[in-house]
Amino acid sequence: MARAYNFFPGPAVLPIPALERAQRELLDWENTGTSVMETSHRSKEYDALHNETIGLIRELLDLPDNYHVLFLTGGASLQFAMIPMNLLSQDQTADYIHTGTWSKKAIAEAQLFGKVNIAFDGETVKLMRIPQQDELKLSPGARYVHMTSNNTIKGTQFHAFPETGNVPLLCDMSSDFMWRPFDVKQFGMIYAGAQKNVGPAGVTIAILRDDVLAQCKAENPTLLKYKTHVDKNSMFNTCPCFNIYMLRNVLAYMKEIGGLKKVEEHNRKKASIIYSTIDENPGFFRAPVAKDSRSFMNIVFRLPSEELEKKFVAGGLEQRMLGLKGHRSVGGIRISAYNSCPMEAVEKAAAYMKEFARENG
Ligand SMILES: *Cc1c(COP(=O)(O)O)cnc(C)c1O
Repeated sequence: MARAYNFFPGPAVLPIPALERAQRELLDWENTGTSVMETSHRSKEYDALHNETIGLIRELLDLPDNYHVLFLTGGASLQFAMIPMNLLSQDQTADYIHTGTWSKKAIAEAQLFGKVNIAFDGETVKLMRIPQQDELKLSPGARYVHMTSNNTIKGTQFHAFPETGNVPLLCDMSSDFMWRPFDVKQFGMIYAGAQKNVGPAGVTIAILRDDVLAQCKAENPTLLKYKTHVDKNSMFNTCPCFNIYMLRNVLAYMKEIGGLKKVEEHNRKKASIIYSTIDENPGFFRAPVAKDSRSFMNIVFRLPSEELEKKFVAGGLEQRMLGLKGHRSVGGIRISAYNSCPMEAVEKAAAYMKEFARENG
């Protein structure tokens, strides 16, 4: 079997056992004589799968009872709008920590619904680092504070979460969800499109605390209210059954290998292999991000020229390394090494980097 070395930033690589399980179960799932795509979402088989998936998220994150797990559609991008639609009015303020391309999009949506205070303007540091606690200008009485834990495009990541007192902290974790164990109790809400770290595109996981849910407005369209999804266990309308099934396969695999502690160990090792390759060749590779803000998921670096970067991407492709090109808005190289990216792929990339530097340095 010829699997590529997959560094795509999202949709991204999935674990082979999760894919093989889908392959095995595709034609006859749970003795239904159908695939999960062809079965009623009201069937007992689907219901069991749905609740198993929620249970796995609860277990892996050690989620307290006052948090709800939701499966939504519309991507993380719809959450940019749905959050302020539910929680913010024209005369109210929300604090936004601006650290990258995605937080900027979240801010633009929030401004449609109420006042936005930019608690930290990352543009002042060219989005090259994460703010310290004492740099945050939080507003007293804000409805919530919004942050992005990992900046997929710039390659920065929060390594400690901000303190926001009594104001709920809401976090877009799309590109580092479940990359390690963390204390969910710090957050009023977490959301993540599945397609980077835990599954295929098409399902967004939202985890919402009771008191945040209680503050949501009642006068929104049915499908755009969190309460609808909480009340109906994310089955008000037809849910993305196959995506949730794949999510289950990935989560079950994560549990099997030892849970988030093991996932973290693996992720730290992978990132350190690439960052040390960069740091050991300072004349050739340059990581633009501040060291203490480096992302463990998306490793961004530059080569001495754009020509060499093009050559690096093309040469990588010849060796079946996919997705090495940086986001079109920033250029350079980006290696995305999410949860399911195997160690061998990262070792392969590091060996290629060293060889490339030797030949072109
Ligand atoms: C990819 C990404 C998004 C957008 O997700 P969609 O599911 O495509 O809407 C939002 N936030 C972050 C941090 C991302 O990495």
